[in-house]
Amino acid sequence: MRAIDATHDPALTSWVESANRHGSDFPIQNLPFAVFRRAGSGEPLRCGVAIGDEVLDLALLGAAQPLEGLAARALAACTEPALNRLMELGSEAWRALRQGLSEVLRSGSRHAARAAGALAPQAGVEFALPARIGDYTDFYTSIHHATAVGRLFRPDQPLLPNYKWVPIAYHGRASSIGVSGQEVRRPRGQLKPPGAEEPRLAPTGRLDYELEVGVFIGRGNPPGEPVPIGRAEEHVFGLCLLNDWSARDVQAWEYQPLGPFLAKNFATTISPWVVTLEALAPFRSPWSRPSADPQPLPYLDDPALRLLGAIDLELEVALETAAMRARGAPAQRLSRSNFRDCYWSIAQMVAHHSVNGCNLQPGDLLGSGTQSGPGAGEAGSLLELTDGGRKPVELASGETRTFLADGDRVILRGWCERQGLARIGFGEAAGIVLPVA
Ligand code: MN
Repeated sequence: MRAIDATHDPALTSWVESANRHGSDFPIQNLPFAVFRRAGSGEPLRCGVAIGDEVLDLALLGAAQPLEGLAARALAACTEPALNRLMELGSEAWRALRQGLSEVLRSGSRHAARAAGALAPQAGVEFALPARIGDYTDFYTSIHHATAVGRLFRPDQPLLPNYKWVPIAYHGRASSIGVSGQEVRRPRGQLKPPGAEEPRLAPTGRLDYELEVGVFIGRGNPPGEPVPIGRAEEHVFGLCLLNDWSARDVQAWEYQPLGPFLAKNFATTISPWVVTLEALAPFRSPWSRPSADPQPLPYLDDPALRLLGAIDLELEVALETAAMRARGAPAQRLSRSNFRDCYWSIAQMVAHHSVNGCNLQPGDLLGSGTQSGPGAGEAGSLLELTDGGRKPVELASGETRTFLADGDRVILRGWCERQGLARIGFGEAAGIVLPVA
């Protein structure tokens, strides 16, 4: 578990004024990382940190050598076009860099004049994927989602018997992961509607989103050496938002016996900012398992997990249709949920993924699975919100949706907020649906 220290002090302010504005996603207590360059510049990509409406260019800052020791070595890893080298350095280096950047950016810092020259307005930059993602695994950690989807696909047996014992996952595809702003072309696939004699190849008629949290692995583990649950979070660099676009009609026909394949591997959209576990330290909450349910096997259980294994992270998904965009109407929220309701925690995902000796590597991405909560309106996908496409969602624009239409823009947002603490945000992961090619 990461410690709470002076970098989390809610009284801390920055000389970058926009960071002190109430409701900003990026106050000085956050300091999330991204990979960026000035839009259209063709400049080399490099790492940056968000502060208010600006990005602090870590390659430029590093050239001024404001930090020393471990923090300076961590800063030197940020000249690269990906966060992998920083991720590989491990949690002590991440903490040292966070402390150093917090000192550079706080009000009255002696580095302010030099660092001001390394700021770029976020509105004028383009983002790349934050890391070279070697492997991507998508879990299924929300029991509310698993039960609701299971009911639609298998009314007789919604939750399979292994769910409460195994953190279920499938191996996704890294090549089609894109950063916010991704254009997603409606995929074709094999469909076999109920009652049809034979399947046919056609554009999906049931394109959906999934509201998920992405988990970036920092330091990896050697092959054959599982990560014990008590040390699992030391291997996690930080979190982002993740939309696992899904073609439900393709999925229903192909998913047995080996799980999702083409229904999901055509696109995945993540937010550009990676919020570190250090920044999230004040927003931890207990993880628990209902007493009537099987308790986790010993390799998936830990006192620290019970104490503070969950994260109180609010999530929401909003939809902007082409008609709304044309009228300048704002996106409409479809649902909201909280990551603290997950059945399996981040530490359990890491411990389970590596228990067989599978080696995780810096920059690997884990998806949390769709985060649906226990309440109505807490469904993280249209599949659930519309009861399998039977009950259309009515939008304020007068339009309805069962599944996504061409031109729809889906926006995921996330934030942590608690009385007496600085609110920290994740920015957004947005993607737009283009017509079939
Ligand atoms: Mn998913």
